[in-house]
Amino acid sequence: MSALLLAGGRVIDPANRVDREADVLLRDGKVTAVGPEAAKQAGAGATALDVKGLVVCPGLIDLHVHFREPGQSAKETIATGTAAAARGGFTSVVCMPNTSPAIDNAGTVALIQEKAQREGVVNVFLTGAITKAIAGEELAPIGSLKQAGVVAITDDGHCVQNNELMRRALEYARMFDLPVMDHCQDYALVTEGVMHEGYWSTVLGLRGWPAAGEDLIVARDILLAESTGAHVHCQHLSTAGSVAMLREAKKRGVPITGEACPHHFVLTDAAIAGSEKFWATDGKSIAGLNGSADARPAWPVYDTNFKMNPPLRSARDREAILEGLADGTIDVLCSDHAPHCDYEKEVEFDYAPFGITGLETELALSLMQLYHTKRLPLPDLLAKFTVAPAQLLKLAKGTLAPGADADVTVLDPDAAWTFRRHDSASKSRNTPFDGWPLKGRAIATIVRGIIVWREENRFASVQNEN
Ligand SMILES: [Zn+2]
Repeated sequence: MSALLLAGGRVIDPANRVDREADVLLRDGKVTAVGPEAAKQAGAGATALDVKGLVVCPGLIDLHVHFREPGQSAKETIATGTAAAARGGFTSVVCMPNTSPAIDNAGTVALIQEKAQREGVVNVFLTGAITKAIAGEELAPIGSLKQAGVVAITDDGHCVQNNELMRRALEYARMFDLPVMDHCQDYALVTEGVMHEGYWSTVLGLRGWPAAGEDLIVARDILLAESTGAHVHCQHLSTAGSVAMLREAKKRGVPITGEACPHHFVLTDAAIAGSEKFWATDGKSIAGLNGSADARPAWPVYDTNFKMNPPLRSARDREAILEGLADGTIDVLCSDHAPHCDYEKEVEFDYAPFGITGLETELALSLMQLYHTKRLPLPDLLAKFTVAPAQLLKLAKGTLAPGADADVTVLDPDAAWTFRRHDSASKSRNTPFDGWPLKGRAIATIVRGIIVWREENRFASVQNEN
């Protein structure tokens, strides 16, 4: 019998509307008690962790990560990806199916599940592809994917362009009670775009990825969700137009949800013109960073760590994403953790792959842009990392109710620290946030009652009660 008592923390459990100082007892992989009875029940032999002054919440869930295994294990593996998740405070991750081969059949699902069981330090959930080989031409066997255990279907990285095929996918998904997640990109409009189409793409001479390239597919998804009754979840929303349409559709009761990633509500396309331009224009509102006046990280113009899909947008779009998160239009926060090797990113902007890592910075950036700016109270912010993704994907996670899995994150929302890409547990280093002073971080990550990561030297007071 293993027991862990988290003593004296501020327990924030949005699923159960709890926000108070309390002890939490974890025993044999389950939450056993929250409140005064926790210490009483702990008994002899329990390990106690003094978490006074810290926040104790259900283990964070990131429903959008790319772990690259099988096929591209030079970028990331399940072992390194889950280690990065643990450091970021995440106890569960949901992997996208664009591995090589793609997760488009039950055999591949089983293979990755087995590997995750052996090598993962946090819970790994899988999504399946909408179409075979994510080619957008023929539906994947959605029923057998569901049976194999996928929690949603998506062609993430790609987008089904054929509206009729997408409609059939939604009809099947509804039949099998699976949400459909969509990477919203209209190929005809976006063509070879590499950054947001606007002032800076013109100045920098780079091909533009217009906002309408996302808006059109979000509009399509709303119409199809409404007509089929299937749940569609729009991934990594980046435009003001998407947020406005989602808000309106939700009011009408359309089964549609959305997510946002920190890079889209921290940075803008001005960042691709270099740090000087960014801090002088769109970076002003975050220039205070963690309070240190001299803290202004520098990067060159055309830095490929600022290249992602969808691209960084304008300041107006960034504001709309923040508003959408604050008023509940956008349900979920996630990273779109997309590792790439240095040699792949160290090329001309046009040729670099899209995407950045994010698991170890997303909590801090979310706290800085939403909680420390007073746009969202802490419980509402944590809901977007816990109960919201759990409900969306029907995972038995995201709660500290007695009997639930003992997945817990201990965090300090005020901790000031500087992120260094070389300290990352990820195998890849493609992050635009290297050297950024951040505010807020995970202190301990607990999966089924076992501490899988904790900040060194933080808990000198671990003791065995006798
Ligand atoms: Zn995507």
